[in-house]
Parts: sequence; structure tokens; C-alpha cells
Amino acid sequence: MKTFVDSPAVVVAGMPVGPFAMNQYLVGCTVTGTAAIIDAGASPDPFIAFAEARGLRIEAIFQTHAHIDHVAGLAATRARLAAPIHLHPADAPLYANCSAQGAMMGFPCPPPPPVDASLADGQVLALGNLRFEVLHTPGHAPGHVVLWERGQQLAFVGDLIFFDSIGRTDLPLCDGEQMERSLGKLAATLPDETRLFPGHMQATTMGRERSHNPFLKMMGLA
Ligand SMILES: [Zn+2]
Ligand SMILES: [Zn+2]
Repeated sequence: MKTFVDSPAVVVAGMPVGPFAMNQYLVGCTVTGTAAIIDAGASPDPFIAFAEARGLRIEAIFQTHAHIDHVAGLAATRARLAAPIHLHPADAPLYANCSAQGAMMGFPCPPPPPVDASLADGQVLALGNLRFEVLHTPGHAPGHVVLWERGQQLAFVGDLIFFDSIGRTDLPLCDGEQMERSLGKLAATLPDETRLFPGHMQATTMGRERSHNPFLKMMGLA
């Protein structure tokens, strides 16, 4: 487990999990001891151990989207934690179809438990003193969201944008035009200082991607 942020207000830790090296994160309010898992791709054990060592309680599971690499750990996670699963409803078809995704992608996914809470664009999720603004960013997946903590200048961006890259748009239910609009929305909303924690590869910042990301340049968003 790597610790990315450790301040008097917030802790962010994570590790790549599963066959696609999906970055699973834990984010916590260090003042109230309230924490959430972002994208339950695999066993919760290292995240629970990290939370216990830091005196944090995992009280929510926030899903950026419902691709198999991001949900394959939900059944195991809900078996250990009562934390509610949050997902945008537009990803319900992907969520319901995890075993077919698994067959297509070549790794098995136990059926995930029912979603507990729906995410919506513009919603603000409270986690202790932290406030995550939900940005609906479809394209890579219909119900893809970004979770932005404006005050702490950090965002969990799922598979929307990566270091020098962007998420795939060649999978079922992807939409390339929506993807371009969502990247435009991200670029128009997040300040340069915002640290981006993506679903794959290393963390980056909005400013770094604004000035270097070849896909944003190609789309005229750089
Ligand atoms: Zn994905
Ligand atoms: Zn992914």
C-alpha cells in the first residue's frame, strides 16, 4: 500500500490490484476518522489493515464506474464491511453484466451485491469533513463519475484520464463523443493544482495533463 497524501486533513493511500493493475484507493478524513474505499477491485484486507492502523473506519464504497476490474472485489468487501456501495445508475447495465464482462476480459467476477446509493452529477458526498463533488463524466462508461475534493485539491478520476493518456472508448457501451465532452468538462472544472488519482498508472495533476497529455492536445483541450 502506497500513501499518496498524508496531511492533517486527509489521507489517500492505494495500490494496484487484479489482472489489470487497477488502482484501488482508500481516502479518509483524519479529523473524524471516516474513510471510504474508491473502486473495490479486489480483497479489502490491505485496506482494512491500513484503516485500522490509522484509526480510520471505512464507512462507504464509492465506485467511479462498473467495469469488472473496478468491481471484482465488491462481494468480498461487502462480506467484511457494512459500507454502502455508491454507483451512478447509468452503469447499472454494466454492473448487472459483470460475469459477461469477466468472460470477455478473461477473469472471473463474483456477482456484486446490490448498489445501496445512486450517484448524481452535482451531488456532494460528505465523508467526515471532506466533501466530494460528483462530476458525471460518461464516455468510457455510461455512468462514469469523477469524485472531486475541491478544498483538498484532489480528485479520483477513474478511467477518464491517465498520465499522458485517456480511458478506452472501444468497449461495449463506450461513447467517443461523450468521452471528449467529459474530458472538456474535467479540463474546464478542475484547477491545475488538483492532484489526479486515476484508475490505472501513476498519479498526476490537472496542470501536468493540461500541458502534456497528447489526447487533450489533440482535442484542443490542452
Ligand atoms: Zn474502466
Ligand atoms: Zn479500469
